[in-house]
Amino acid sequence: MVKTVISNLIFTKKIQYEIAQQSTGCCYFEFGRILFLFTSSHNSHSVNLYPCSCIYYSPIEYAFYKAEPVEFFEPKPEVRDSFNRIEKTMVGYADDQFFVRQPELVLDLADLEEGAFVFPLPGGRVLSPYGRRNGRNHTGMDLKINRRDTVLAAFDGIVRMTGGSRGYGNVVVVRHYNGLETVYAHNSKHLVRSGDHVKAGTPVSITGETGRATTDHVHFEIRVNGKTIDPALVIDFNTQTLLHKRLVFTPTPKGKIQVEAV
Ligand SMILES: [Zn+2]
Repeated sequence: MVKTVISNLIFTKKIQYEIAQQSTGCCYFEFGRILFLFTSSHNSHSVNLYPCSCIYYSPIEYAFYKAEPVEFFEPKPEVRDSFNRIEKTMVGYADDQFFVRQPELVLDLADLEEGAFVFPLPGGRVLSPYGRRNGRNHTGMDLKINRRDTVLAAFDGIVRMTGGSRGYGNVVVVRHYNGLETVYAHNSKHLVRSGDHVKAGTPVSITGETGRATTDHVHFEIRVNGKTIDPALVIDFNTQTLLHKRLVFTPTPKGKIQVEAV
């Protein structure tokens, strides 16, 4: 939980936001990445802001001039730069508090800043997509250019694991501030170690064919609290850019991750 205090928040011009739900004397709106419950009294310009979760939107413009100091909690995935022994050795590490800290993980891909994402193997082609393959579940995307190519971190974050793992061979796992983890497997060489801070585009490894691989490539995964999701729900692999969607990740009773685009 990140506690943020805003004091003397003053807006002097109109801001663009989206009403999510409206009733007498209050409405929900989104400012930046945070959704607020907005209430005001009729004879003053002061407003009260409360963080809350969102239901649906319709666009509207509204002006207000002064907000009283407000205090709110922004639920955020916890990202530390020291990891326990299991986190350093287990690719699919799940934290039983992950969805306690935030009931759902929201990732607004359309709202990310320039440079927040870098395709892990620019110019690489998809050898094999996510999903069923020869009767077994392929948990990532296989990408290849030539051989011994440089693999880049997809988002900013902290390296959680570098090491050997059955099937994966030499593998790097990066925990991102946005709540996702990405996995880069079959490497011939690692360029980072656990605890390293990386930016989107930081080289993390050199492709190879360690583990269960028949050709030099990178096996790229996206995970949410240890569970793989289809990377094509996040990335357009034709243009090698992020999809412009707001994604909501929630755990299912069967222990998988449901991904909804809203
Ligand atoms: Zn693969």
